[in-house]
Amino acid sequence: MKNEMRALIDKLISEHRLSTEEYEALLLGRDEETAAYLAAAAVSERDRLYGPKVFVRGLIEISNICKNDCNYCGIRRSNRSCERYRLTPEEIAACADEGYTLGFRTVVLQGGEDAFFTDEVLVNLVHAIKTEHPDMAVTLSLGERTRESYRKLREAGVDRYLLRHETANREHYRSLHPAEMDYDNRMRCLRDLKELGFQTGCGFMVGSPNQTMRHLAEDLSFIESFRPEMCGIGPFLPHHATPYADMPAGSAELTCYLLSILRLIHPALLLPATTALGTLHPQGRELGIRAGANVLMPNLSPVRVRKQYELYDNKICTGEESAQCLRCLEVRVQSVGCEIDRGRGDFLPEAPT
Ligand code: SAH
Repeated sequence: MKNEMRALIDKLISEHRLSTEEYEALLLGRDEETAAYLAAAAVSERDRLYGPKVFVRGLIEISNICKNDCNYCGIRRSNRSCERYRLTPEEIAACADEGYTLGFRTVVLQGGEDAFFTDEVLVNLVHAIKTEHPDMAVTLSLGERTRESYRKLREAGVDRYLLRHETANREHYRSLHPAEMDYDNRMRCLRDLKELGFQTGCGFMVGSPNQTMRHLAEDLSFIESFRPEMCGIGPFLPHHATPYADMPAGSAELTCYLLSILRLIHPALLLPATTALGTLHPQGRELGIRAGANVLMPNLSPVRVRKQYELYDNKICTGEESAQCLRCLEVRVQSVGCEIDRGRGDFLPEAPT
């Protein structure tokens, strides 16, 4: 390995921060040897803080109806070929019950920006889940809302909120989204979520159209200063009915390299090996865990709607029942020397450094 690369990685390990230029150099100069060196350091940090454990969150895809028109996303509103669905609050609560029975102590309700899910509907739903299962953490991933809305949700007992920033570069953000979507509002949402006391997750796609290593370096600098509790990253994968249908997918290798860097920036980060990574590569989730990830989000949605929540083509795990998914993941996690932990898997607030 080149001396400069080793020096950068050692600095990251000891100081947990680099300049944007240094992140860019770390990305541009990567090779197998640097990736292995980073991954070993990342896994050792994860294991020191959490043990060789992978937390599971049951993902419930509550609706694919969306008012937004993101250029990359298969459920964008202008996709007429998308068969739309919305789960009822009763169906969502039943999925959470099933998750609880399977041992999950976290559910993530994710969906498009569907106006049906008003504050009132969500508050009642969260109360229903929390009354039935007080020891279950509830995470929402329902896009941009007002501060007042987030406040009501937090008051209702929502523990965590996932809202990927998508890209920390304003021009790049503008290229991925229609003009009516606003970078500043996305960032305002993330700040509000953090201030309101949610465990907050941001994140980005790797290899999204027009993305450069400089953009990724800016994502890393943003995450360094924002200090999220969670960070979701996965490869961009094309969807056939979007403007980016013919764009190349992101790379598993670069995604894993970034996972290792993120682990070293914030050692206590809750970092999923995403479904997109598992879709891109048959062992994608194992590779992610070996790079320092410590979260998996198996699908708890009713099997009949899983194919319709199609953000990108060829999504995996759309056919099996949730219990089967969990068994499959257990084997995969053990194959890389870790164990599944079905607890709430909260962020460690005072991570020993
Ligand atoms: N409406 C919610 C949930 C969006 S879906 C929200 O705005 O947060 C969750 C994530 O999937 C998105 O934030 C995006 O980063 C990712 N995603 C969407 N389309 C994708 C694609 N084609 N390839 C890979 N990831 C994609």
